[in-house]
Amino acid sequence: MNIRGYCAYLAHRLRRRPLRFVEVASIHVIDYDALKKKGITTLIFDLDDTLAAHGAPLDEKTRALIEKLAKRFALGVLSNGRKRAQRLRGLPLFCAGNREKPSTIAVDEILKHYHALPSQTALIGDRVSMDIFLANAAGLAEAILVQPYSRVFGGPQAPLLLRAARRFGL
Ligand SMILES: [Mg+2]
Repeated sequence: MNIRGYCAYLAHRLRRRPLRFVEVASIHVIDYDALKKKGITTLIFDLDDTLAAHGAPLDEKTRALIEKLAKRFALGVLSNGRKRAQRLRGLPLFCAGNREKPSTIAVDEILKHYHALPSQTALIGDRVSMDIFLANAAGLAEAILVQPYSRVFGGPQAPLLLRAARRFGL
């Protein structure tokens, strides 16, 4: 986690500034056609509780979705979690090496890799403080909040402290 980025989020909240995002149940119900029509070329996903349950491998349904999306979009993953590369091995997406969420440093690596512009990029994640704030701070075209993967599809849950933090938007 990037402490400076997180403090920027807390300051944003204290000032009661709005965040721009849309909310959907999961990555499996996002209208990817609509994103394409809006000119989105690059999708950046969070890993834990967005592409998979917390710390879990990606299931077959999600692997199939990634393969399908890779034909139409450039795909990246941003995660502060460990063992990212192992869990994503063999999938057509670029995994950022840094763990700097919610700083915009985290996004820059993926944009640079794909030569993508913020105005052509959507970020999808389950935490307002990390994913949604980052998408807003980086000026990305779309910020999409999903419900925690484990809540929708089952599987290992995030540690209690993390679940409490999410509940309070921290
Ligand atoms: Mg997450």
